[in-house]
Amino acid sequence: MTKSKQTEWNFDNTYARLPKSFFSDTNPTPVNSPELAIFNDQLAESLGLNAEALNTEDGAAMFAGNEIPEGASPLAQAYAGHQFGHFTMLGDGRAVLLGEQISPKDERFDIQLKGSGRTPFSRGGDGRAALGPMLREYIISEAMHALGIPTTRSLAVVTTGEPVIRETELPGAILTRVAASHLRVGTFEYAARLGNVEELQVLADYAIKRHYPDIEDNEDRYLSLLEEVIKRQAELIAKWQLVGFIHGVMNTDNVTISGETIDYGPCAFMDTYDPETVFSSIDVQGRYAYGNQPLIGGWNLARFAETLLPLLHENQDHAVELAQEKISDFSNLYQSHWLKGMRAKLGLFNEEKEDEALINDLLSMMKEHRADYTNTFRALTFEKHDDTALFGIPEFTQWHERWHVRLSRQQESKDSVNQLMQNSNPAVIPRNHRVEEALEAAVENGDYSVLGKLLDVLSKPYAHSAEQEEYCAVPKSAAPYQTFCGT
Ligand code: AMP
Ligand code: MG
Repeated sequence: MTKSKQTEWNFDNTYARLPKSFFSDTNPTPVNSPELAIFNDQLAESLGLNAEALNTEDGAAMFAGNEIPEGASPLAQAYAGHQFGHFTMLGDGRAVLLGEQISPKDERFDIQLKGSGRTPFSRGGDGRAALGPMLREYIISEAMHALGIPTTRSLAVVTTGEPVIRETELPGAILTRVAASHLRVGTFEYAARLGNVEELQVLADYAIKRHYPDIEDNEDRYLSLLEEVIKRQAELIAKWQLVGFIHGVMNTDNVTISGETIDYGPCAFMDTYDPETVFSSIDVQGRYAYGNQPLIGGWNLARFAETLLPLLHENQDHAVELAQEKISDFSNLYQSHWLKGMRAKLGLFNEEKEDEALINDLLSMMKEHRADYTNTFRALTFEKHDDTALFGIPEFTQWHERWHVRLSRQQESKDSVNQLMQNSNPAVIPRNHRVEEALEAAVENGDYSVLGKLLDVLSKPYAHSAEQEEYCAVPKSAAPYQTFCGT
Protein backbone atom coordinates (compact mmCIF):
# COMPACT_ATOMS: atom_id res chain seq x y z
CA MET A 1 0.00 0.00 0.00
CA THR A 2 1.34 3.40 -0.95
CA LYS A 3 0.48 6.59 0.85
CA SER A 4 1.04 9.89 -0.87
CA LYS A 5 1.74 12.74 1.55
CA GLN A 6 0.23 15.80 -0.05
CA THR A 7 -2.97 14.67 -1.66
CA GLU A 8 -3.40 11.74 0.72
CA TRP A 9 -4.19 9.20 -1.94
CA ASN A 10 -4.10 5.85 -0.23
CA PHE A 11 -4.50 3.17 -2.86
CA ASP A 12 -4.70 -0.57 -2.50
CA ASN A 13 -5.64 -2.18 -5.79
CA THR A 14 -7.20 -5.58 -5.22
CA TYR A 15 -9.07 -5.64 -8.53
CA ALA A 16 -5.75 -5.36 -10.37
CA ARG A 17 -4.70 -8.60 -8.66
CA LEU A 18 -7.60 -10.60 -10.14
CA PRO A 19 -6.93 -12.89 -13.11
CA LYS A 20 -5.83 -10.95 -16.19
CA SER A 21 -8.98 -11.78 -18.14
CA PHE A 22 -10.99 -9.41 -15.94
CA PHE A 23 -9.29 -6.21 -17.08
CA SER A 24 -6.82 -4.55 -19.34
CA ASP A 25 -4.08 -2.33 -17.95
CA THR A 26 -4.95 0.99 -19.57
CA ASN A 27 -3.87 4.52 -18.87
CA PRO A 28 -6.14 7.49 -19.33
CA THR A 29 -5.36 9.50 -22.46
CA PRO A 30 -4.07 12.94 -21.42
CA VAL A 31 -6.14 15.95 -22.41
CA ASN A 32 -5.32 19.46 -23.62
CA SER A 33 -6.06 21.77 -20.76
CA PRO A 34 -7.77 20.28 -17.74
CA GLU A 35 -9.72 22.61 -15.47
CA LEU A 36 -11.82 21.77 -12.46
CA ALA A 37 -15.46 22.53 -13.14
CA ILE A 38 -16.70 21.24 -9.82
CA PHE A 39 -15.14 19.53 -6.83
CA ASN A 40 -16.80 17.75 -3.92
CA ASP A 41 -14.88 18.91 -0.82
CA GLN A 42 -16.99 16.97 1.64
CA LEU A 43 -16.69 13.71 -0.22
CA ALA A 44 -12.94 14.26 -0.60
CA GLU A 45 -12.62 14.71 3.16
CA SER A 46 -14.61 11.60 3.92
CA LEU A 47 -12.33 9.63 1.59
CA GLY A 48 -9.36 10.89 3.58
CA LEU A 49 -8.14 13.06 0.72
CA ASN A 50 -6.64 16.48 1.15
CA ALA A 51 -9.33 18.64 -0.42
CA GLU A 52 -7.16 21.72 -0.38
CA ALA A 53 -4.36 19.99 -2.24
CA LEU A 54 -6.75 18.57 -4.83
CA ASN A 55 -8.90 21.62 -5.49
CA THR A 56 -6.01 22.97 -7.54
CA GLU A 57 -4.37 22.75 -10.96
CA ASP A 58 -2.53 19.64 -9.79
CA GLY A 59 -5.83 18.11 -8.75
CA ALA A 60 -7.34 18.97 -12.13
CA ALA A 61 -4.42 17.20 -13.83
CA MET A 62 -5.12 14.09 -11.73
CA PHE A 63 -8.88 14.10 -12.32
CA ALA A 64 -8.20 14.49 -16.03
CA GLY A 65 -5.85 11.52 -16.10
CA ASN A 66 -2.89 13.69 -17.16
CA GLU A 67 -1.16 12.89 -13.88
CA ILE A 68 -1.45 9.42 -12.35
CA PRO A 69 -1.61 9.59 -8.56
CA GLU A 70 0.99 7.65 -6.66
CA GLY A 71 -0.11 4.13 -5.92
CA ALA A 72 -2.80 4.03 -8.62
CA SER A 73 -2.89 1.15 -11.08
CA PRO A 74 -5.11 2.27 -13.96
CA LEU A 75 -7.12 -0.37 -15.74
CA ALA A 76 -10.24 -0.83 -17.83
CA GLN A 77 -12.61 -3.47 -16.53
CA ALA A 78 -14.00 -6.23 -18.71
CA TYR A 79 -17.71 -7.00 -18.47
CA ALA A 80 -20.67 -8.07 -20.52
CA GLY A 81 -24.35 -7.31 -20.21
CA HIS A 82 -27.87 -7.72 -21.44
CA GLN A 83 -28.73 -4.45 -23.13
CA PHE A 84 -32.48 -4.09 -23.69
CA GLY A 85 -32.66 -7.86 -23.35
CA HIS A 86 -29.75 -8.79 -25.65
CA PHE A 87 -26.42 -10.21 -24.52
CA THR A 88 -23.33 -8.19 -25.52
CA MET A 89 -19.65 -8.19 -24.59
CA LEU A 90 -18.84 -4.71 -23.27
CA GLY A 91 -16.20 -3.42 -20.86
CA ASP A 92 -15.07 0.06 -19.82
CA GLY A 93 -15.05 1.78 -23.19
CA ARG A 94 -14.52 5.24 -21.80
CA ALA A 95 -13.47 4.80 -18.21
CA VAL A 96 -10.49 3.67 -16.21
CA LEU A 97 -10.35 2.53 -12.65
CA LEU A 98 -7.45 4.32 -10.97
CA GLY A 99 -7.59 2.05 -7.96
CA GLU A 100 -9.21 1.64 -4.57
CA GLN A 101 -8.91 4.45 -2.07
CA ILE A 102 -8.83 3.27 1.54
CA SER A 103 -10.64 5.82 3.69
CA PRO A 104 -9.77 6.80 7.26
CA LYS A 105 -12.59 4.49 8.38
CA ASP A 106 -10.81 1.70 6.52
CA GLU A 107 -13.50 1.53 3.86
CA ARG A 108 -12.61 0.74 0.26
CA PHE A 109 -13.80 2.90 -2.64
CA ASP A 110 -13.23 2.55 -6.36
CA ILE A 111 -11.95 5.75 -7.92
CA GLN A 112 -12.88 5.80 -11.57
CA LEU A 113 -12.35 8.38 -14.29
CA LYS A 114 -15.27 8.41 -16.72
CA GLY A 115 -14.60 9.93 -20.13
CA SER A 116 -10.87 9.29 -19.89
CA GLY A 117 -10.21 8.17 -23.44
CA ARG A 118 -10.26 5.04 -25.55
CA THR A 119 -9.60 1.59 -24.12
CA PRO A 120 -9.40 -1.88 -25.67
CA PHE A 121 -13.18 -2.07 -25.02
CA SER A 122 -14.13 1.15 -26.81
CA ARG A 123 -15.37 -0.51 -30.01
CA GLY A 124 -16.42 2.41 -32.26
CA GLY A 125 -16.64 4.95 -29.44
CA ASP A 126 -14.34 7.90 -28.81
CA GLY A 127 -13.84 7.09 -25.14
CA ARG A 128 -14.92 10.58 -24.17
CA ALA A 129 -17.79 12.29 -22.42
CA ALA A 130 -19.44 15.69 -22.72
CA LEU A 131 -19.63 18.26 -19.94
CA GLY A 132 -23.44 18.41 -19.69
CA PRO A 133 -23.99 14.69 -19.03
CA MET A 134 -21.08 14.50 -16.57
CA LEU A 135 -22.44 17.44 -14.56
CA ARG A 136 -25.86 15.80 -14.77
CA GLU A 137 -24.46 12.60 -13.25
CA TYR A 138 -22.80 14.69 -10.56
CA ILE A 139 -26.08 16.43 -9.64
CA ILE A 140 -28.30 13.37 -9.69
CA SER A 141 -25.92 11.00 -7.93
CA GLU A 142 -25.31 13.51 -5.14
CA ALA A 143 -29.06 14.14 -4.87
CA MET A 144 -29.68 10.40 -4.62
CA HIS A 145 -27.10 10.12 -1.86
CA ALA A 146 -28.78 12.92 0.06
CA LEU A 147 -32.13 11.19 -0.37
CA GLY A 148 -30.63 8.18 1.42
CA ILE A 149 -30.45 5.95 -1.64
CA PRO A 150 -27.33 3.80 -2.15
CA THR A 151 -25.43 5.21 -5.09
CA THR A 152 -22.06 5.85 -6.61
CA ARG A 153 -20.83 9.35 -5.76
CA SER A 154 -19.21 12.15 -7.72
CA LEU A 155 -15.91 13.60 -6.58
CA ALA A 156 -15.07 15.98 -9.41
CA VAL A 157 -15.76 17.05 -12.96
CA VAL A 158 -12.96 18.51 -15.06
CA THR A 159 -13.30 20.08 -18.46
CA THR A 160 -10.74 18.82 -20.94
CA GLY A 161 -10.39 21.80 -23.26
CA GLU A 162 -11.20 19.40 -26.09
CA PRO A 163 -14.46 19.12 -27.99
CA VAL A 164 -16.42 15.90 -28.29
CA ILE A 165 -18.50 15.24 -31.35
CA ARG A 166 -22.06 14.11 -30.70
CA GLU A 167 -25.01 15.46 -32.71
CA THR A 168 -23.12 18.71 -32.40
CA GLU A 169 -19.73 19.69 -31.01
CA LEU A 170 -19.78 19.77 -27.20
CA PRO A 171 -17.21 20.63 -24.54
CA GLY A 172 -15.48 17.49 -23.26
CA ALA A 173 -15.28 16.55 -19.59
CA ILE A 174 -14.25 13.77 -17.23
CA LEU A 175 -16.15 12.70 -14.12
CA THR A 176 -14.41 11.14 -11.13
CA ARG A 177 -16.79 8.50 -9.87
CA VAL A 178 -16.56 6.92 -6.45
CA ALA A 179 -18.17 3.52 -5.88
CA ALA A 180 -18.24 0.71 -3.35
CA SER A 181 -17.04 -1.19 -6.39
CA HIS A 182 -17.77 -1.42 -10.09
CA LEU A 183 -18.62 -5.13 -9.95
CA ARG A 184 -21.79 -5.62 -11.94
CA VAL A 185 -24.10 -8.43 -12.88
CA GLY A 186 -22.38 -7.93 -16.23
CA THR A 187 -18.99 -8.75 -14.69
CA PHE A 188 -20.37 -12.16 -13.75
CA GLU A 189 -21.98 -12.58 -17.16
CA TYR A 190 -18.57 -11.92 -18.68
CA ALA A 191 -16.90 -14.52 -16.45
CA ALA A 192 -19.64 -17.06 -17.13
CA ARG A 193 -19.31 -16.51 -20.87
CA LEU A 194 -15.54 -17.11 -20.71
CA GLY A 195 -16.48 -20.50 -19.32
CA ASN A 196 -13.61 -20.79 -16.85
CA VAL A 197 -15.29 -21.95 -13.64
CA GLU A 198 -12.16 -21.39 -11.56
CA GLU A 199 -12.03 -17.74 -12.56
CA LEU A 200 -15.75 -17.37 -12.00
CA GLN A 201 -15.20 -18.70 -8.50
CA VAL A 202 -12.34 -16.25 -7.94
CA LEU A 203 -14.67 -13.42 -8.95
CA ALA A 204 -17.47 -14.65 -6.68
CA ASP A 205 -15.09 -14.99 -3.74
CA TYR A 206 -13.78 -11.51 -4.46
CA ALA A 207 -17.30 -10.06 -4.49
CA ILE A 208 -18.15 -11.83 -1.24
CA LYS A 209 -15.01 -10.60 0.48
CA ARG A 210 -15.59 -7.07 -0.70
CA HIS A 211 -19.32 -6.67 -0.16
CA TYR A 212 -20.65 -9.53 1.93
CA PRO A 213 -17.85 -10.59 4.31
CA ASP A 214 -20.44 -11.97 6.74
CA ILE A 215 -21.25 -14.88 4.43
CA GLU A 216 -17.64 -15.78 3.72
CA ASP A 217 -17.74 -18.84 5.95
CA ASN A 218 -21.17 -20.05 4.89
CA GLU A 219 -21.20 -23.54 3.49
CA ASP A 220 -23.37 -22.40 0.57
CA ARG A 221 -21.65 -19.09 0.17
CA TYR A 222 -22.45 -18.66 -3.53
CA LEU A 223 -26.13 -19.23 -2.86
CA SER A 224 -25.81 -16.73 -0.01
CA LEU A 225 -24.18 -14.28 -2.43
CA LEU A 226 -27.18 -14.60 -4.74
CA GLU A 227 -29.51 -14.11 -1.79
CA GLU A 228 -27.66 -11.03 -0.55
CA VAL A 229 -27.55 -9.35 -3.95
CA ILE A 230 -31.26 -10.04 -4.40
CA LYS A 231 -31.94 -8.46 -1.00
CA ARG A 232 -29.93 -5.33 -1.74
CA GLN A 233 -31.42 -4.86 -5.20
CA ALA A 234 -34.96 -5.35 -3.88
CA GLU A 235 -34.34 -2.66 -1.29
CA LEU A 236 -32.65 -0.37 -3.81
CA ILE A 237 -35.39 -0.54 -6.41
CA ALA A 238 -38.06 -0.02 -3.72
CA LYS A 239 -36.21 3.16 -2.75
CA TRP A 240 -36.20 4.32 -6.37
CA GLN A 241 -39.94 3.77 -6.63
CA LEU A 242 -40.62 5.60 -3.40
CA VAL A 243 -39.01 8.82 -4.68
CA GLY A 244 -40.10 8.44 -8.30
CA PHE A 245 -36.65 7.81 -9.74
CA ILE A 246 -36.46 6.28 -13.20
CA HIS A 247 -33.06 4.81 -14.03
CA GLY A 248 -33.81 4.63 -17.72
CA VAL A 249 -31.28 1.99 -18.73
CA MET A 250 -31.48 -0.97 -16.36
CA ASN A 251 -29.25 -3.18 -18.47
CA THR A 252 -27.44 -5.88 -16.51
CA ASP A 253 -24.12 -4.05 -16.94
CA ASN A 254 -25.71 -1.24 -14.95
CA VAL A 255 -26.71 -3.42 -12.00
CA THR A 256 -24.14 -3.45 -9.22
CA ILE A 257 -23.29 -6.35 -6.93
CA SER A 258 -22.94 -3.84 -4.07
CA GLY A 259 -26.53 -2.64 -4.44
CA GLU A 260 -25.59 0.91 -5.38
CA THR A 261 -27.31 2.84 -8.15
CA ILE A 262 -24.88 3.24 -11.03
CA ASP A 263 -24.63 4.89 -14.45
CA TYR A 264 -26.71 8.01 -14.58
CA GLY A 265 -27.43 8.24 -18.28
CA PRO A 266 -30.98 8.88 -19.37
CA CYS A 267 -32.33 8.77 -15.81
CA ALA A 268 -34.81 11.32 -14.45
CA PHE A 269 -37.32 11.89 -11.67
CA MET A 270 -41.00 11.63 -12.43
CA ASP A 271 -43.14 14.72 -11.92
CA THR A 272 -46.70 13.62 -12.70
CA TYR A 273 -47.48 10.20 -11.27
CA ASP A 274 -47.83 7.66 -14.04
CA PRO A 275 -46.34 4.16 -13.92
CA GLU A 276 -45.85 4.26 -17.69
CA THR A 277 -43.46 7.20 -17.50
CA VAL A 278 -40.39 6.82 -19.71
CA PHE A 279 -37.90 9.62 -20.34
CA SER A 280 -35.24 7.91 -22.41
CA SER A 281 -35.55 8.61 -26.12
CA ILE A 282 -34.22 5.15 -27.01
CA ASP A 283 -36.60 3.21 -24.75
CA VAL A 284 -39.39 3.11 -27.33
CA GLN A 285 -40.98 -0.05 -25.93
CA GLY A 286 -41.08 1.31 -22.38
CA ARG A 287 -39.02 -1.63 -21.14
CA TYR A 288 -37.53 0.55 -18.42
CA ALA A 289 -40.66 2.55 -17.57
CA TYR A 290 -41.16 3.55 -13.92
CA GLY A 291 -43.75 0.86 -13.26
CA ASN A 292 -41.61 -1.82 -14.90
CA GLN A 293 -38.49 -1.27 -12.81
CA PRO A 294 -39.26 -3.92 -10.15
CA LEU A 295 -40.07 -6.50 -12.82
CA ILE A 296 -36.87 -5.73 -14.72
CA GLY A 297 -34.94 -5.90 -11.45
CA GLY A 298 -36.12 -9.49 -11.06
CA TRP A 299 -35.25 -10.27 -14.66
CA ASN A 300 -31.74 -8.87 -14.21
CA LEU A 301 -31.22 -10.92 -11.06
CA ALA A 302 -32.26 -14.05 -12.91
CA ARG A 303 -29.40 -13.32 -15.34
CA PHE A 304 -27.11 -13.02 -12.31
CA ALA A 305 -28.37 -16.33 -10.90
CA GLU A 306 -27.63 -18.06 -14.23
CA THR A 307 -24.00 -17.03 -14.06
CA LEU A 308 -23.63 -18.63 -10.63
CA LEU A 309 -25.10 -22.03 -11.56
CA PRO A 310 -21.74 -23.83 -11.90
CA LEU A 311 -20.92 -22.75 -8.34
CA LEU A 312 -24.27 -23.59 -6.76
CA HIS A 313 -24.29 -27.35 -7.16
CA GLU A 314 -22.53 -29.98 -9.22
CA ASN A 315 -25.89 -31.24 -10.37
CA GLN A 316 -27.01 -28.41 -12.66
CA ASP A 317 -30.71 -29.30 -12.46
CA HIS A 318 -30.50 -28.97 -8.72
CA ALA A 319 -28.52 -25.75 -9.08
CA VAL A 320 -31.35 -24.32 -11.19
CA GLU A 321 -33.88 -25.26 -8.51
CA LEU A 322 -31.80 -23.57 -5.82
CA ALA A 323 -31.42 -20.43 -7.90
CA GLN A 324 -35.09 -20.30 -8.82
CA GLU A 325 -36.11 -20.49 -5.22
CA LYS A 326 -34.01 -17.44 -4.40
CA ILE A 327 -35.16 -15.51 -7.47
CA SER A 328 -38.78 -16.12 -6.57
CA ASP A 329 -38.17 -14.30 -3.26
CA PHE A 330 -37.33 -11.08 -5.06
CA SER A 331 -40.85 -9.81 -5.67
CA ASN A 332 -41.92 -10.43 -2.07
CA LEU A 333 -38.82 -8.73 -0.74
CA TYR A 334 -39.33 -5.80 -3.06
CA GLN A 335 -42.99 -5.54 -2.13
CA SER A 336 -42.32 -5.54 1.58
CA HIS A 337 -39.68 -2.79 1.29
CA TRP A 338 -42.00 -0.76 -0.88
CA LEU A 339 -44.93 -1.21 1.48
CA LYS A 340 -42.81 -0.28 4.47
CA GLY A 341 -41.66 2.86 2.67
CA MET A 342 -45.18 3.76 1.56
CA ARG A 343 -46.52 3.32 5.08
CA ALA A 344 -43.87 5.76 6.29
CA LYS A 345 -44.81 8.21 3.55
CA LEU A 346 -48.35 8.15 4.93
CA GLY A 347 -47.23 8.37 8.56
CA LEU A 348 -48.18 4.81 9.43
CA PHE A 349 -46.09 3.18 12.13
CA ASN A 350 -47.88 -0.12 12.50
CA GLU A 351 -49.17 -2.54 9.90
CA GLU A 352 -52.74 -3.28 8.96
CA LYS A 353 -53.94 -5.55 6.26
CA GLU A 354 -55.89 -2.85 4.43
CA ASP A 355 -52.89 -0.52 4.14
CA GLU A 356 -52.01 -1.76 0.69
CA ALA A 357 -55.49 -0.91 -0.59
CA LEU A 358 -55.31 2.51 1.05
CA ILE A 359 -52.00 3.21 -0.69
CA ASN A 360 -53.08 1.86 -4.05
CA ASP A 361 -56.32 3.83 -3.99
CA LEU A 362 -54.33 7.01 -3.47
CA LEU A 363 -51.98 6.13 -6.31
CA SER A 364 -54.78 5.39 -8.74
CA MET A 365 -56.40 8.73 -7.93
CA MET A 366 -53.03 10.42 -8.48
CA LYS A 367 -52.71 8.72 -11.83
CA GLU A 368 -56.22 9.57 -12.92
CA HIS A 369 -55.93 13.22 -11.95
CA ARG A 370 -52.32 13.58 -13.09
CA ALA A 371 -51.08 14.60 -9.66
CA ASP A 372 -47.45 15.47 -9.06
CA TYR A 373 -45.86 12.52 -7.24
CA THR A 374 -43.52 14.38 -4.86
CA ASN A 375 -45.84 17.29 -4.17
CA THR A 376 -48.84 15.12 -3.37
CA PHE A 377 -46.98 13.43 -0.51
CA ARG A 378 -45.56 16.76 0.54
CA ALA A 379 -49.08 18.24 0.64
CA LEU A 380 -50.33 15.29 2.71
CA THR A 381 -47.42 15.84 5.11
CA PHE A 382 -48.34 19.45 5.71
CA GLU A 383 -52.10 19.07 5.12
CA LYS A 384 -51.96 21.65 2.34
CA HIS A 385 -54.30 19.94 -0.04
CA ASP A 386 -55.12 22.93 -2.15
CA ASP A 387 -51.58 22.43 -3.51
CA THR A 388 -52.57 19.22 -5.22
CA ALA A 389 -54.51 18.18 -8.28
CA LEU A 390 -56.66 16.10 -5.95
CA PHE A 391 -58.05 19.03 -3.99
CA GLY A 392 -61.84 19.26 -4.04
CA ILE A 393 -62.34 15.86 -5.64
CA PRO A 394 -65.00 13.97 -3.61
CA GLU A 395 -63.16 10.66 -4.01
CA PHE A 396 -60.10 12.26 -2.46
CA THR A 397 -62.10 13.74 0.42
CA GLN A 398 -63.38 10.24 1.19
CA TRP A 399 -59.91 8.77 0.91
CA HIS A 400 -58.55 11.47 3.19
CA GLU A 401 -61.13 10.62 5.82
CA ARG A 402 -60.28 6.94 5.55
CA TRP A 403 -56.61 7.77 5.99
CA HIS A 404 -57.30 9.85 9.08
CA VAL A 405 -59.39 7.11 10.62
CA ARG A 406 -56.50 4.76 9.92
CA LEU A 407 -54.04 7.19 11.56
CA SER A 408 -56.26 7.40 14.63
CA ARG A 409 -55.99 3.63 15.09
CA GLN A 410 -52.29 3.92 15.98
CA GLN A 411 -50.88 5.23 19.23
CA GLU A 412 -48.30 7.67 17.92
CA SER A 413 -48.90 11.36 18.43
CA LYS A 414 -49.69 13.78 15.64
CA ASP A 415 -46.18 15.17 16.02
CA SER A 416 -44.49 11.83 15.51
CA VAL A 417 -46.67 11.15 12.49
CA ASN A 418 -45.69 14.47 11.02
CA GLN A 419 -42.01 13.84 11.76
CA LEU A 420 -42.12 10.44 10.09
CA MET A 421 -43.78 11.94 7.04
CA GLN A 422 -41.30 14.79 6.82
CA ASN A 423 -38.45 12.30 6.95
CA SER A 424 -40.03 10.06 4.33
CA ASN A 425 -41.31 12.61 1.81
CA PRO A 426 -38.65 14.79 0.23
CA ALA A 427 -39.40 18.47 -0.25
CA VAL A 428 -37.17 18.60 -3.28
CA ILE A 429 -36.03 16.20 -5.96
CA PRO A 430 -33.81 17.12 -8.90
CA ARG A 431 -36.66 18.27 -11.10
CA ASN A 432 -35.82 18.03 -14.77
CA HIS A 433 -36.40 21.69 -15.58
CA ARG A 434 -34.20 22.76 -12.68
CA VAL A 435 -31.43 20.38 -13.69
CA GLU A 436 -31.61 21.62 -17.29
CA GLU A 437 -31.50 25.23 -16.16
CA ALA A 438 -28.39 24.58 -14.04
CA LEU A 439 -26.68 22.69 -16.86
CA GLU A 440 -27.45 25.37 -19.39
CA ALA A 441 -25.96 28.12 -17.24
CA ALA A 442 -22.83 26.04 -16.59
CA VAL A 443 -22.26 24.62 -20.06
CA GLU A 444 -23.38 27.57 -22.21
CA ASN A 445 -22.20 30.44 -20.02
CA GLY A 446 -19.65 28.99 -17.65
CA ASP A 447 -21.90 30.17 -14.80
CA TYR A 448 -21.83 27.56 -12.03
CA SER A 449 -23.83 29.57 -9.51
CA VAL A 450 -27.19 28.07 -10.55
CA LEU A 451 -25.76 24.58 -10.26
CA GLY A 452 -24.17 25.38 -6.91
CA LYS A 453 -27.45 26.60 -5.47
CA LEU A 454 -29.32 23.59 -6.82
CA LEU A 455 -26.77 21.21 -5.27
CA ASP A 456 -27.12 23.00 -1.98
CA VAL A 457 -30.90 22.69 -1.96
CA LEU A 458 -30.74 19.03 -3.02
CA SER A 459 -28.27 18.21 -0.26
CA LYS A 460 -31.02 18.44 2.40
CA PRO A 461 -34.09 17.01 0.71
CA TYR A 462 -35.97 16.40 3.96
CA ALA A 463 -35.33 19.86 5.45
CA HIS A 464 -38.62 21.35 4.19
CA SER A 465 -37.05 24.78 4.56
CA ALA A 466 -38.30 28.08 3.15
CA GLU A 467 -35.41 28.37 0.69
CA GLN A 468 -36.52 25.10 -0.92
CA GLU A 469 -39.99 26.39 -1.71
CA GLU A 470 -39.15 27.70 -5.18
CA TYR A 471 -37.55 24.35 -6.08
CA CYS A 472 -40.80 22.50 -5.40
CA ALA A 473 -42.69 23.99 -8.29
CA VAL A 474 -43.58 21.71 -11.16
CA PRO A 475 -42.40 22.64 -14.66
CA LYS A 476 -44.48 25.25 -16.44
CA SER A 477 -44.08 23.66 -19.84
CA ALA A 478 -46.33 20.72 -20.61
CA ALA A 479 -43.87 19.35 -23.19
CA PRO A 480 -42.82 15.80 -22.22
CA TYR A 481 -39.27 15.64 -20.96
CA GLN A 482 -36.82 13.49 -22.91
CA THR A 483 -33.39 12.25 -22.03
CA PHE A 484 -30.74 11.01 -24.43
CA CYS A 485 -28.28 8.18 -24.24
CA GLY A 486 -25.56 9.68 -26.46
CA THR A 487 -23.71 10.90 -23.42
P1 AMP B 1 -23.47 2.94 -20.66
O1 AMP B 1 -24.63 3.19 -21.55
O2 AMP B 1 -22.80 4.18 -20.15
O3 AMP B 1 -23.76 1.96 -19.58
O4 AMP B 1 -22.36 2.27 -21.61
C1 AMP B 1 -22.54 1.06 -22.28
C2 AMP B 1 -21.25 0.64 -22.91
O5 AMP B 1 -20.87 1.55 -23.94
C3 AMP B 1 -20.07 0.56 -21.96
O6 AMP B 1 -19.27 -0.51 -22.34
C4 AMP B 1 -19.38 1.90 -22.20
O7 AMP B 1 -18.02 1.85 -21.85
C5 AMP B 1 -19.56 2.07 -23.69
N1 AMP B 1 -19.50 3.48 -24.11
C6 AMP B 1 -20.42 4.45 -23.87
N2 AMP B 1 -20.01 5.62 -24.41
C7 AMP B 1 -18.81 5.40 -24.98
C8 AMP B 1 -17.87 6.22 -25.69
N3 AMP B 1 -18.09 7.53 -25.92
N4 AMP B 1 -16.75 5.64 -26.14
C9 AMP B 1 -16.50 4.32 -25.92
N5 AMP B 1 -17.33 3.52 -25.26
C10 AMP B 1 -18.48 4.03 -24.80
MG1 MG C 1 -22.95 1.24 -18.08
